[in-house]
Amino acid sequence: MLNIRMPEGARMIMDKLSSAGIRSWLVGGCVRDMLRHRIPNDWDIAAGADPQEIVGALDGFCIIQTGIRHGTVTVVAQDDCFEVTACRCDGEYKDMRRPESVSFTRSIESDLSRRDFTINAMAYSQKDGLLDLYGGRADLRRGLIRCVGEPTRRFSEDALRIMRALRFASELGFSIDPDTAAAAQALKENLDAVSQERKLSELRRLLLGQDAGKVLICYREILVQIMPECRALIGFPHRAASTEDIWTHCANSVDLAPKKFNVRLAALLRDIGKPYCRKVGESYPGHAEIGARMAEHMLRRMKLDHAALQETVALIANHSAVPEPEERQIRRALHRLGAGTLFDLYHLRRCDRGSHLDLEEKQELEKVNKAHELTRRILERGDCYMLSTLAVNGDDLKQLGYAGPELGAKLEELLMLVIDGECPNTKQALLQRLV
Ligand code: ATP
Ligand code: MG
Repeated sequence: MLNIRMPEGARMIMDKLSSAGIRSWLVGGCVRDMLRHRIPNDWDIAAGADPQEIVGALDGFCIIQTGIRHGTVTVVAQDDCFEVTACRCDGEYKDMRRPESVSFTRSIESDLSRRDFTINAMAYSQKDGLLDLYGGRADLRRGLIRCVGEPTRRFSEDALRIMRALRFASELGFSIDPDTAAAAQALKENLDAVSQERKLSELRRLLLGQDAGKVLICYREILVQIMPECRALIGFPHRAASTEDIWTHCANSVDLAPKKFNVRLAALLRDIGKPYCRKVGESYPGHAEIGARMAEHMLRRMKLDHAALQETVALIANHSAVPEPEERQIRRALHRLGAGTLFDLYHLRRCDRGSHLDLEEKQELEKVNKAHELTRRILERGDCYMLSTLAVNGDDLKQLGYAGPELGAKLEELLMLVIDGECPNTKQALLQRLV
């Protein structure tokens, strides 16, 4: 028995459409999520009418004309938003991204046939029940991502679907059907034609998914198509004595990282510089710095936003330099990185450790945990590590005749004395240092 509890707002919209003679269905992700007993992210309704007819029929509702050209309006009902889209059939695809033309249809069957995967191509209405033309429900039960129709054709139409297949596999913990996976591998080069923003958005969700490590390892060739700077990590030994390559080692560590995009990205990319550095014993001096520069270049091209880029690059640059569990060093690290990035660095460092720890690694882990604990204490105590909490400020120094860059340098010098525990953070003590 199908247990679909439609939100009240959706029911009201669908009833209103119905009274105007328009058939409508819940479609896509929300049907999939309801069948899995999960709360959907968003609600999509497909309606068998032209966009203008839909708008006319929904007179009285608050309607936001978000994408009317593509046949979509957002309708507000019962304090919830619903995307209502006219059933579509896509024209021919020529650029591996989007159809040349889109036309509207009354047929839900045509609308479902242009959807990407069987699990995303089901529709539901109270009148028709579940419409499952491609075996989506069985694939949900089996945990399978499978294209609607012929995979090669579907990935040739829109190469973003390749990344979407990987993303859903990771998010849902599903596997990819062999024919779909083979077509995705074969057509990976078509991803070059897809916009960076769309690829990055899928990569973000892939990395935050429950099965990120497995997908990264299984579909490494597809991932290095969008991140070619990582290609050299494949086959590059992680340790002299280990058969694991750096890509596999880093991909596995992604699963151990907290579900924060910048930390997971840094976990994946942190050793990107190693193949380009000289090896000394088991280490590669300078690899963190070189890796940070490579990652910065790559992530800028991938259009990662500035704040996330800065944080990720800082994590990579510092990943092998976690401060010792010693107050002065930790205050210095807080000054350099800020509290947020320093905590992320501890998380990153912890997930770097494999499951079989040797003695040296156990000691290293203990050190990270101690440093983390000490950082918490330092912050709770309210130690000063930045100019904004220093007991003297620019005005105090101006009164003593300082100005311009000399004033800035002096303030920084006083701050470092406080950070290093060489001077208490009081106005009197700090001003005395100036005479
Ligand atoms: P979630 O909202 O949890 O990410 P979703 O399945 O709703 O999952 P969306 O990206 O919101 O994913 O897309 C909504 C629906 O539109 C999908 O379920 C699918 O049916 C269809 N769809 C989205 N992108 C594509 C695409 N590139 N090719 C074909 N169908 C697509
Ligand atoms: Mg959605």
